[in-house]
Amino acid sequence: MKLVFATNNRHKLEEVSAILGPEFEMVTPREVGIMEEIPETHNTLEGNALQKARYIHERTRLDVFADDSGLEVNALGGAPGVYSARYAGEGCSYDDNNSLLLNNLENHTDRSARFRTVIALIQNGEEHLFEGVIQGEITKERRGEGGFGYDPIFAPQGAGGQTFAQMPADKKNAMSHRAKAVKKLDKHCQKF
Ligand code: IMP
Repeated sequence: MKLVFATNNRHKLEEVSAILGPEFEMVTPREVGIMEEIPETHNTLEGNALQKARYIHERTRLDVFADDSGLEVNALGGAPGVYSARYAGEGCSYDDNNSLLLNNLENHTDRSARFRTVIALIQNGEEHLFEGVIQGEITKERRGEGGFGYDPIFAPQGAGGQTFAQMPADKKNAMSHRAKAVKKLDKHCQKF
């Protein structure tokens, strides 16, 4: 099955390809002639995932999927959520985001949070949404060197307090929000 994955992020493409397996031929926006940045202007993960998938579909008419992810912290009303990449401001680093989040949680006892991914698929002109969630806690300090983003301060449930950044990539990728959403996409596509 040929699918456009609406990302130009190599790291994501590899992670998702490993889950979907060889029966999927995944191509990038650039490979189908979309060279510009794909807009992401909605204020929900669902809205952004659909916007990116529709952008490619309207221009190519090919089957396409797009994902959007964020970290939702309960004590902060679900922030940073859809703004996870630029929580500490436009052009900020992962480290800036982690520092801001740790500061904002300083006076809270509830440190529960979840990562959430939404995948929007447009297949034969029909839209489908798949969600993946992993619950956990924001730690009090950074731990571990692996991964990216909020991984050093997110300890998923059931991992004995280890953060995502302390795990080997294959362990994180087996339990992550993105993996769960991709597995749902895979199950759906196996029907065809
Ligand atoms: P994206 O939609 O997958 O690009 O994710 C948006 C932002 O959420 C990223 O820039 C990270 O800050 C954060 N994020 C998403 N997934 C992860 C993850 O697996 N680990 C750590 N941070 C993540």
